[in-house]
Amino acid sequence: CSWWDHVTPALKDPISAVTQAFLADPCPYKINLGVGAYRDDEGKPVVLQCVREAEAKIEASNFLESTSTALSSKLVEESAKLVYGEDSDVIKEKRFAGIPALSGTGACRLFAEFQKRFYPESRIYLPDPTWSNHRNIWREVHVPDRTFRYYHPDSKSLNFMALMDDVKNAPDGSFFLLHPCAHNPTGVDPTDEQWREISSLFKVKNHFPFFDVAYQGFASGDVEGDAKAIRIFLEDGHSIGCAQSFSKNMGLYGHRVGVLSVLCNDKIQAMAINSQLQQISRTMYGSPPIHGISIVSKILSDPDIKAIWLKEVKVYLVSSFFFRFCTLFDFHYYKDDWTDSLSIISKCYKVMATRIHRMRVILREALERLESPLNWQHITNQVGMFCFSGLNRAEVYLLEKEFHIYMTPDGRISMAGVTTKNVDYLANAIHEVTA
Ligand code: PMP
Repeated sequence: CSWWDHVTPALKDPISAVTQAFLADPCPYKINLGVGAYRDDEGKPVVLQCVREAEAKIEASNFLESTSTALSSKLVEESAKLVYGEDSDVIKEKRFAGIPALSGTGACRLFAEFQKRFYPESRIYLPDPTWSNHRNIWREVHVPDRTFRYYHPDSKSLNFMALMDDVKNAPDGSFFLLHPCAHNPTGVDPTDEQWREISSLFKVKNHFPFFDVAYQGFASGDVEGDAKAIRIFLEDGHSIGCAQSFSKNMGLYGHRVGVLSVLCNDKIQAMAINSQLQQISRTMYGSPPIHGISIVSKILSDPDIKAIWLKEVKVYLVSSFFFRFCTLFDFHYYKDDWTDSLSIISKCYKVMATRIHRMRVILREALERLESPLNWQHITNQVGMFCFSGLNRAEVYLLEKEFHIYMTPDGRISMAGVTTKNVDYLANAIHEVTA
């Protein structure tokens, strides 16, 4: 008999469970489509050029305790500019509170704790579906969660009418979590016009928009463009909260760099909120690790390195237009002759989201070549890292058992796991289980 006899294993997290099952499978041609971390066409993680440049320029003094506060403030300030806009009044008037967080997850958790502390009776409305950990995070701090309708499984697109209905029917003054771009897991975002309507309705209902910005740059290839939803809400004068992650758009998964910011009425309110956020974080992890913060602050504050970063993310924009054009007119540009003749574009293939979009096109075309009876248009219509494939649980199970292909039970495919080498095998397998 010991102190911990009553401890039973926790329920498996659906995403970690996929990784564990994948690692335990000895099959040499197994595929992991579970985890949302970027991989190159060889399946290897990528270190961005901007990160290498920033690391080379980080001074040794950055690691002294005395400089960490200044570095943290720099990170918060530069990150706030990214979401709220460099020229916005909130930035100029410093009308925001913010602290570094342990990446996007940590920023969400800090906000949940903050919400509970100052609105103890409140709930959080989450999109259906959403990243599975959102529910766990708010439940962990005893804030009940509700869902609002977001995605239409039949049309595989936004269920805008239902979304608006649910926003309207929620009690006035509710907290809502919104993905401003590259929605996880569906890859379906509202249009600017739809965001305007959502923002107006939020104004009428006095709801609080909390934006989880985990993929800024991954929807349009442009970090400014991907902040459009937030800017629309800002223009409408909302009070806003933002959780930012640099895991994906800087490829810094292991460093856990993120920021939580909350807009305020004035500097005095900002000081009060900052002190509360700091108090919450001190009881959770003291202060955040400084190395990743140094890298991100350097990238965002050094104009030369920032330009490299924006280019690394932006290359996607130019090429994605090209890809969409090709898809529209049925050009088989991915074939070798096209790839060779379009050397500028083919260089872009190596870059992050560009590669992801290319894989979307190839996967869809492969399924169409197999004469799949199903419509796979949504693979190329959706944006960001994930493809919400529409595969059901039974099909996902078969893919795992018969083909050694691993993904979350909701049929979400991490496109980063699809490579030139495995895409045909994947298409065949999907065809086999759905035909
Ligand atoms: N929010 C969303 C929507 C996500 O998809 C993720 C990661 N999958 C996170 C937050 C957490 O990001 P991080 O890895 O930076 O903690």
